[in-house]
Formats: sequence, structure tokens, C-alpha cells
Amino acid sequence: MKYYITTTLPYVNAKPHIGFALEIVQADALARYHRLRGEEVIFNTGTDEHGQKIYEKALEEGKEPKAYVDEYAAKFDALKDTLNLSYTNFIQTSDPKHEAAAQEFWKRCEARGDIYKARYQVKYCVGCELEKTDSELVDNRCPVHPNLELQLVDEENYFFKFSNYQQPLLDLYEKHPDFVVPENRLREIKTFVEGGLKDFSISRIASKMPWGVPVPGDEMQVMYVWFDALVNYISTLGWPDESGAFRFWPGVQVAGKDNLRQQSAMWQAMLMSAGVAPSKQIFIHGFITSGGQKMSKSLGNVVDPFDEVKEYGTDALRYYLLREIPSHDDGDFSRERMEERYAELANRLGNLVSRVAAMSVKYFEGKLDEVDIDWSGRQKTLDEAIAQYDFKVYLDEVFAVVDEANEEVDKKEPFKLVKQDEAAAKQVLSMISQQIRWIGRALAPVLPQTSSEILRRYDKVILVGESLFPRRDLTASFPPSPLST
Ligand SMILES: [Zn+2]
Repeated sequence: MKYYITTTLPYVNAKPHIGFALEIVQADALARYHRLRGEEVIFNTGTDEHGQKIYEKALEEGKEPKAYVDEYAAKFDALKDTLNLSYTNFIQTSDPKHEAAAQEFWKRCEARGDIYKARYQVKYCVGCELEKTDSELVDNRCPVHPNLELQLVDEENYFFKFSNYQQPLLDLYEKHPDFVVPENRLREIKTFVEGGLKDFSISRIASKMPWGVPVPGDEMQVMYVWFDALVNYISTLGWPDESGAFRFWPGVQVAGKDNLRQQSAMWQAMLMSAGVAPSKQIFIHGFITSGGQKMSKSLGNVVDPFDEVKEYGTDALRYYLLREIPSHDDGDFSRERMEERYAELANRLGNLVSRVAAMSVKYFEGKLDEVDIDWSGRQKTLDEAIAQYDFKVYLDEVFAVVDEANEEVDKKEPFKLVKQDEAAAKQVLSMISQQIRWIGRALAPVLPQTSSEILRRYDKVILVGESLFPRRDLTASFPPSPLST
């Protein structure tokens, strides 16, 4: 079985933020889950590097665009260690192989008759790299980037016949009712497509904005950044060569709710035009606020995933992102809540693993009996949670077993029982250690370090070890929450 999963590619004009950390940790959990089932997995991420915004940023910093994007790509690649990610591919859209694939893709859409030249006259937000209609504006400005002046674009360039794909897209959604998850996002995109599709511009005049992929057969124009960037999902698989990694296509795409149209309509229409199969499924996640507010530099509440990992560790941040943030909706990040979630890991999971190991080693030299427990019901819940991209449900199920095991220790008190009935105490500990082993296995896709440490300690002979989540000294150098003003 082959499984392909990809994140969207972030623009390289800012450091990685917590919203992207959420997306890539979700994708990582899926990749690990499928790998553990023995499937062959390609997991793609990378950086989106063309366009006006990047070009202007590079000029601002006095750098060649390629040098600028390479520097930022390295910062994104650093997330791999920080968040313990298992991606196999990291694509940069300024890579010559990707550029060649984007040009081939263009030619196929052109051969299909879906590309034509026309006058392009719009208001354009460089922050979004998107055109804006008057109805989308607030006080004549982009609501996402109110500090940026909108640009007035008036030029001849190329358009993609999006309007040709209204019915094919509706057919696609009809045929695959779970093409977009969650369901409300599918309804949203259906409504958008039913409203009629406007052809969109896919190029810019090169003399004004040279930082893009040259349009095949017209050196005066470069591709619009979205057109080239979307092709990464297949160029990373070696497309147009269809004999190698491209056999992993179609794949699952993880994207934020602001990417719904681009991923589940524009990109799908482009694929149909180029004669490539549509994606397998699009999973849409929500946004993360910080202390109940939108993150912004001026509010000083931007959450940096590198800082959080430094403070709490990789698995604690993964735990927060996957359990505290609802998988299908918006969520909030705060240091206060992070402390509570961390304490939960320490007091419930960490403590369970430590005290059961300590008793097992003390009374039975770590050697307990094999116990058979039927996990099929629990496993089914986990599998269904993954199929629904619901990581919260997944972790709720694992922690239900953590709670059961803790209750069992509290109720049976093996440390007392051992003095009266050694065999009964051994049986209790044998049972609980089997539960801990299951917890260790179940945590592998979501909290991989914790999982392997539990499984190492709960091998045939149980071992004691350091605290999995050391108690935090809150009186020492506890850094203020970004919102503690
Ligand atoms: Zn904008």
C-alpha cells in the first residue's frame, strides 16, 4: 500500500508560526500512523518561494532572491528536528526541477485550450498574493493586511479557464462526498463553485516582477505564484515522469481553512486540465488564536513553536496541538492552558509510567506475567479517529486507558496488596503494565519520543527511568505568557 501526504507550502517571508506547526504535526501523525501499518509513505513539505511579496522582501534585505529564499527554507527545515517530523520530501519551488515541471504543467493546460491572454485589471493584495474584489475589502483595504496599500494592476497577461470546470468540480464533490473533510468545508466549497467560477490570472509581466517561473513560449511573462506553487504536490513526486514516485499520486493534502478554494477547487481544476487525477482527499484545519485574540506583531502575542518546544519539549507541544486544538475547527493557544496540559502529561501519563515501573522492579525485578487483553474495540476507535482526521478523539481514547490504569493502581493498591498476596499483586501489575504497553504503541504516531521511551522501559523486563515529563518549577525562571500584559 502506498500513502502520500503533503502539507501546503508556507511562504518564506516570515519565520514558521504555530499555525503551520499545527498543520505539519497533523500531517506527521498521519504519516507515522500509515507507516506503522506497514504502508509505504511519502510525506511532503517545503517552501513556496516565488512572487512579488518574496521579491520585495529580498530587495528590502538587499539579497538576491535565491539567496534569500534558501536562507528561509533552512529555517523551515529546522522544524524537522524541533517538532520531530518524519517528512521524506522537502521541496523548494525555486528548484529547477520544480520549475521545469511547472512549465510542462502549463503547456498541458495550454494544449487543452484552457489558457488565453486578456487584460487584467484588479486590486491586488501583495500580503495575500491574491486579487481582491470590492466586496472583500474593508475601508478599501484587505482585511487580513490592513497595513498594506492595495496595488492596482492593469496589464495584459494569461488567464486560466476556471469557468470550464464548474460542472467537473461539482461532479467530483458529488462522487466523493468526503473529498473535503470536515463536511462543513465541503459544503462551503460546493457553494462557492455553484456560485459560478471566474477565470483567474496566472501570469505577471516579467519586467515588473521577474521572480517567477518563465511562461513557456513567452519570455515577457512569468507565472503567477499560485499557479507554479500548486504544482509542487506532484513535481515533488518527479512528475511529469510518471514511472517513479508519481505512483504515490493521488495523495492526501492538509491545508488551513484560508486555503480551501486554492486546494479543493483551483488546484483540482488545474489537475483536470492537465489530465492528472485529482487529489485523494483534502483535510482542512482551523486557525489558532493566542489568548483568545488573533496573533499579531503589534499585540505581541505571536506564538513561536521553537520557543514553546524549548520551554515544554517537543511532545508536549505536539500534545497541545493535537489534543487542545480541535482538529476540525479553530482553537486557542495560551501559556496558562499549556501549563495545564503539561501538568496532565506529567501527573497522569508520566506518573503512571514511573510508579508502575518502580513497583514492578521493586517487588518482581521487572519480570511480570504475559496478559492477553483484547484491544480491538479501542483500536477501532483509533482507526476511525484517524480516518476522520480527528486527533483529539484519538488522544481522548488513549488517555481513557491512562485514566483506567491510574484508577486501577489507586483502587487495588499493589504496594499494599503485595504484603498480603504477592501473586494477586503481580497479577494487578501485569495487567496494568499491559495497558501501559498499549498506551506506548498507541502514542507512536502522535507523541513518538514518549512512545519509544515507554516501549523501551516496558519491554520484557520492566525498567525504571527518569521522569517522562519532569515537574516544572514555576517559581524559578518561568517566562511570562506572551499575553501577560
Ligand atoms: Zn491581504
